[in-house]
Amino acid sequence: MTFSSLSRRALFRGLVAAVLAFPFASLAAETTVKLRLMETTDIHVHVMNYDYYRDQADHSFGLSKTASLIKIARGEVANSLLIDNGDLIQGNPMGDYIAREKGLKDGDIHPVYKAMNLLGYDVGNIGNHEFNYGLEFLATALKGAKFPYVNANVMSADGQKNMYTPYLILERKLKDEAGKEHPIKIGVIGFVPPQIMAWDRRHLEGKVTAKDIVETAKRFVPEMKSKGADLLIAVPHSGLGPVETAGSDENATWLLSKVPGVDAILFGHAHLLFPSEVYKSVPGIDVAKGTVNGVAAVMPGFWGNHLGLIDLTLAVDDAGKWKVTDRQSSLRAVFRMQDRQRVPAVDNDPAVVAAVKDDHDGTLGFIRKPVGKIAARLHSYFALVQDDPSIQIVTDAQKWYVENLLKATEYRKLPVLSAGAPFKAGGRSGPEFYTDIPAGPLAVKNVADLYLYPNTVQVVRVTGAQVKEWLEMSAGIFNQIDPNSAAEQALINQAFPSYNYDVIDGVTYKIDVTRPRRYDNDGKLVASDSHRIIDLAYQGRLIDPEMVFAVATNNYRASGGGKFPALDGKNVIVESPEENRTVIIEYLFDKGSIDPSADNNWSFAKPSKPVTVLFESSPAAEALLASAKGMTKLGPDANGFMRYALKLE
Ligand code: MN
Ligand code: MG
Repeated sequence: MTFSSLSRRALFRGLVAAVLAFPFASLAAETTVKLRLMETTDIHVHVMNYDYYRDQADHSFGLSKTASLIKIARGEVANSLLIDNGDLIQGNPMGDYIAREKGLKDGDIHPVYKAMNLLGYDVGNIGNHEFNYGLEFLATALKGAKFPYVNANVMSADGQKNMYTPYLILERKLKDEAGKEHPIKIGVIGFVPPQIMAWDRRHLEGKVTAKDIVETAKRFVPEMKSKGADLLIAVPHSGLGPVETAGSDENATWLLSKVPGVDAILFGHAHLLFPSEVYKSVPGIDVAKGTVNGVAAVMPGFWGNHLGLIDLTLAVDDAGKWKVTDRQSSLRAVFRMQDRQRVPAVDNDPAVVAAVKDDHDGTLGFIRKPVGKIAARLHSYFALVQDDPSIQIVTDAQKWYVENLLKATEYRKLPVLSAGAPFKAGGRSGPEFYTDIPAGPLAVKNVADLYLYPNTVQVVRVTGAQVKEWLEMSAGIFNQIDPNSAAEQALINQAFPSYNYDVIDGVTYKIDVTRPRRYDNDGKLVASDSHRIIDLAYQGRLIDPEMVFAVATNNYRASGGGKFPALDGKNVIVESPEENRTVIIEYLFDKGSIDPSADNNWSFAKPSKPVTVLFESSPAAEALLASAKGMTKLGPDANGFMRYALKLE
C-alpha cells in the first residue's frame, strides 16, 4: 500500500512512528476537497406551494420553497452538485392541467422545467410516475430540461438496448480549501422500480421492458469505473427496502448499497425521510452519519418539502486518484415547527414563482372548471345510515381501476370487490363536515371533497370469511339496539371514527344492529358468538367462506389502519403508487358523465319488531328527507347538528 492511497487520518495516526522514517513532503501529496450533493425527489409537479385540491397556499411543500434552500446550501460551499430523483411531471392538478388540457407540444417547456432550468440542476433521474402519461409525453417533456437525464434499467421491448442514457460521467473541477482546482470524473447512474411494467402497462407493454435495479447496477458500475469514474453516485427512484432480495425489488436502496463501487445514494420513491431515527434498528444503518452499509445516503421526503444533502470529504493525491474519506447526510425542511404548527422556514423563490405564473393561473382555472358530470347530488349526510353516493363513486372508481390493473398479474381471475368509507360525515369534525355537491358539472377541486386523504390504492387478497369479518369490524360503529325498549336509542357509536366504517361494494349484506358488536373499536373480538352481518351474498348467492376475492382499498387500511381483522399488510397483492383521488379523477375523465347513485348493496336487517333509532346529521339534510326511507326530523342539538329519527322495520 502506498502513502497516497491511505486516508489523511490514517496518515496522522501513523505519524508518531513514521515521522523519522518518511520525509514530510510525501504527506502533502494528498489534498482534501469537499463536495456537497443536493437532492430533490418526488416533486410531483409541486412547483408552487399550493394545494390545488383545497385551492389554497400551503407552506409545508413546493419547489418554489426548496429553491430557496438550494441557493442557501449552494452558497455555503465551494463545490456542489444538484440532482433530481424523479416523480416530477405527475401527481397534482398542475400535472393534469398540462397533460390533459393545455397539452405539451414539441418546443413547449413543462412548468417543472421552467422552474428547474433556473436552479442549475446537474442531472435528473426518471421516476415511475414519469410514465403515467405515456412515453411520448415523457419524451416531449424531457426535451425541455436544460440538464441531462439518466436511467439504466428501462430497456427496449426486446430487452437489448437502453431506452435512456444509463449513466453519465460528469467532468468537473473541484476547488480545495486553498482555491486550487482538481479535475474529477463523477459517475451518475439512475434507476426506476421495474414495477412500472404493471403500473403503466397500457403505456409500456410491448414498447419497453424494465430490469432489476441491483442486477443493472452490477452490470454498469464496473463499466463506469473502467471509464474513469472517480466518484460514483447512484440515484435510485426506490425506497430503502428489504435486506434480502425477493427479486425485482421495488425498493432496492439497501441492496444497492452493497454493490461494490457505489459511493453515495440519492434515493426516493417512498416519500419518507432519510436519515431518520426510524431506521436505527435496520442492520447496516448509521442514522447519525446517514449511511447504509457505510455508503452515504439521503432521501428528502416529497413535494419539495425537504432538500437532501450529502457532504462528502474527498482526498485526491498527486496522481489524481480520489477517494471518499468522510461523509455526512442531512435534511433541510422548507418549514419549521413553532408551537406544534408548521411555519415557513424560507420564502418562495421569486424567480421560480414568476417562471410558472401562467401555468399556475391556468391550473387554478382548470381545478375550478368542470371536468365531468354527475347525474345525482352527491352528499354524505346519510352515509352512516344508508348506502351512500359519496362512497359509491369512490368504490366504483377503485373497482374500475383495479380490474384493469389486475389484468397484468397472476390475480386477473379474482373477482374484485371495493371498500370505501365516509371521510366527511360530521362527528367530532362538526356539523359542517359533510360532502354535498349538486348534480351537474364536477370540478377537479371537488374530488378533494370526495377523497380527503392522499392515500394510495392497494389491493388485498381475502377469503369470503374474511370479507365477512371485515364488515363485522365496520358494523362496530353501531350501538346495540334493543327493539323492546321505548327509550331513545342513539344508533351511532361516536367513539368509532367514520373513516373506519368501510362499506364493501360488489357484495350485498344486511346489518343486524340488535345483536352485540363482534369487535370493539380496537379490533378486539369481544362477542365471538355474535354476528351482525347477515345474508352476505356475492352475485345473488350466499358467499362461500373459502372463495377468494381481491378487495380494492387504500394503503392505510391494507397495512393495518383501524386494526381490522385479517388486514395486517401480509395479504396485500398490489401496492399501486396511484392516489385514490387521482383514480377518481381518471375515472371521471374516462367516463365523462357518471351516475353516483348508491346501489343500496347494504341495509339494516329487519328487527324482531319495529324500532325507532336516533342519529345526527347536518341541518341541511332536512331537505333530503323526502327521498330517504323511514327518516324524520326531530330537532337541533346543542352542537349545531340536527337530530333525526330512523325507523328500522
Ligand atoms: Mn413519488
Ligand atoms: Mg354501494
